[in-house]
Amino acid sequence: MTATRRAELAEGLAATRDRIAGACAQVGRSPDEVTLIVVTKFFPASDIVLLGELGVHDIGENRHQEAEAKLAELAGLLPPDQAMPTVHFIGQAQRNKAGAIARYADVVHSVDRDRLAVALNSGAERAGRRLDVLLQVDLDPDPDPGRGGLGPAAVPDLAQVVAGLEHVRLRGVMTVAPLGMDPQVAFGLLADVAQRLRAEHPEATWVSAGMSSDLEAAVAHGATHLRVGTAILGSRPPHR
Ligand SMILES: *Cc1c(COP(=O)(O)O)cnc(C)c1O
Repeated sequence: MTATRRAELAEGLAATRDRIAGACAQVGRSPDEVTLIVVTKFFPASDIVLLGELGVHDIGENRHQEAEAKLAELAGLLPPDQAMPTVHFIGQAQRNKAGAIARYADVVHSVDRDRLAVALNSGAERAGRRLDVLLQVDLDPDPDPGRGGLGPAAVPDLAQVVAGLEHVRLRGVMTVAPLGMDPQVAFGLLADVAQRLRAEHPEATWVSAGMSSDLEAAVAHGATHLRVGTAILGSRPPHR
């Protein structure tokens, strides 16, 4: 079982790393500039152990309850010589869960409103840590309020708020290409938003964009972080 699964994950990882290297070569970037976050949502903690053995240091989760339980389980499963991965929270975060998320996440990609940023800041302070945060940008011209993210025009104000908080660090922007929009167009728009943000906040250099289906377009437009699930772990099992 474990050996079969390890081989599957190794194959998915190798294929994904090849795609990243190819996409970087196309545009003259170094693959070292691109962090691969393996999105382990719906998959068990045992997969994270195997991914660690295969050299994965960054994992992504998008549901608070699942992530919290899985990471607690992971802490008990990891052999002593294997470090906990860097944990990226990439899903919509509820304000009343921000304190708990701040305890296990290293990076939150989905900050899209003041009150969430403030709650994460308090949570990070209570946990005695500093949290890296990205502003989630919704590029859909006809935004769906249920999906999360703020419009490009609202980024400077939120960035100002986040930059004034002591226990979170503004690192950049994140997006999911809207359905029906060419990812090349979406990630091109995100690159503009990222560039304007950097002009005001030079430390905000991260661009989280690109998933299994569109990582090449993201690399072409300067993504520094890719969030890849299906291409490495396979189709997600139905949620319990
Ligand atoms: C699930 C998810 C991903 C990964 O998607 P795949 O298509 O499985 O690669 C990336 N980003 C976010 C925000 C997600 O929720």
